[in-house]
Amino acid sequence: MIYLDAAATTPVRREVLEAMWPYLTGEFGNASSHHELGARAKDALEDARASVASVLGCRPSEVVFTSGGTESDNLAVKGLVLPMIAGATPAAAAETARVHVAVSSIEHAAVLESARYLQRWHGVDVTELPVNSGGLVSVEELDAYLSAKSAAGYSKGLVSIMYANNEVGTVQDISALSAVAHHYGALFHTDAVQAAGWLSLDVSQLGVDALSISGHKLGAPKGCGVLFASRAVTLEPIINGGGQERGLRSGTEGVANAVGIATALTLAETEREATSRRMTELRNGFLSRVRELVPSVVLTGLEPAEGNRLPNNASLILPGFNGESVLLELERRGVICSSGSACAAGSTDPSHVLIAMGISEDDARTAIRFSLPSTITAEDLERAATLLSQSIVHLANLRLR
Ligand code: PLP
Repeated sequence: MIYLDAAATTPVRREVLEAMWPYLTGEFGNASSHHELGARAKDALEDARASVASVLGCRPSEVVFTSGGTESDNLAVKGLVLPMIAGATPAAAAETARVHVAVSSIEHAAVLESARYLQRWHGVDVTELPVNSGGLVSVEELDAYLSAKSAAGYSKGLVSIMYANNEVGTVQDISALSAVAHHYGALFHTDAVQAAGWLSLDVSQLGVDALSISGHKLGAPKGCGVLFASRAVTLEPIINGGGQERGLRSGTEGVANAVGIATALTLAETEREATSRRMTELRNGFLSRVRELVPSVVLTGLEPAEGNRLPNNASLILPGFNGESVLLELERRGVICSSGSACAAGSTDPSHVLIAMGISEDDARTAIRFSLPSTITAEDLERAATLLSQSIVHLANLRLR
């Protein structure tokens, strides 16, 4: 099997599993227990928090462990906006009417649906910001949007724009976008789930108030994540209970998962520059070979030469071919990739990301995404390119019959 679906998930790294193992077995204590076993679990949890904080360049107290990217995004979007809403007082409706949220139109559903939830249940004004044909949000357009909101009397707001897109790999200029948001007094969150491991997560350079990470894209298990939330902001928990994680995320702490994601992030950060360079070369070679063998393919997102593209992403449209059929043919030949976001898999709707980028519905249905794991070899990629062209020839022949 040649696995080219790393944006969907990655296997757990051996070093990560080894670091987690003691906390799944002998050191199984509850980090909130007052006995010795609990205290050791608590120490491991706080060490993990400190490791994550050192990768993000923040304070340990600004790191919240969650159940994954989806929860981190929900906690950020809902948790930052709920305190802006006045509450159930007579003045609340008027106050709430002055709260706005802007998300890019290519966000993951975890952000989009959280914003829509605030709109549906709290009457918050939500705007989905457009992107250009490469998937980039314009800093000038964000400025114009915020300036209009400010002129219209919206005094509080949140902007949430993803660092790197999961389907087309477009990387946004987060520091410029967050600076504009702050200029107008809005908070800024970024979903860094796909950026983690490839791009710098230094939160002060990025200028973000909140940033989401998921473990399973990085060699940690599924079901663990991190939210960075600046101590300068007020965050309302969305999971209530025993008050763990400084009251921001109740529930018995997943110590092993915290150790796992901290280990994976630390390893990824150490390897990041070398891995990104190597993967850019491998991806570019793969793309050139695919273009040679299947000249009709069109790259979606930005050309690698333009920069601002994740090093391991090659997303394509194959005009005239059904993306799902191509996937099946590839899978029959031992190549695993996807038609876009794994979370939207099963949906027959064309990708909202490609549509927002101005791609027609027909073309969007021909999309396939290759996201290369960092363990991939040039030989496997050469083989995958050949198998893609064989799949296309096979499907074209079927059509002629
Ligand atoms: N955000 C982005 C950009 C993603 O790609 C994903 C997962 O594919 C998520 C959020 C959700 O993360 P999780 O699977 O950990 O809930």
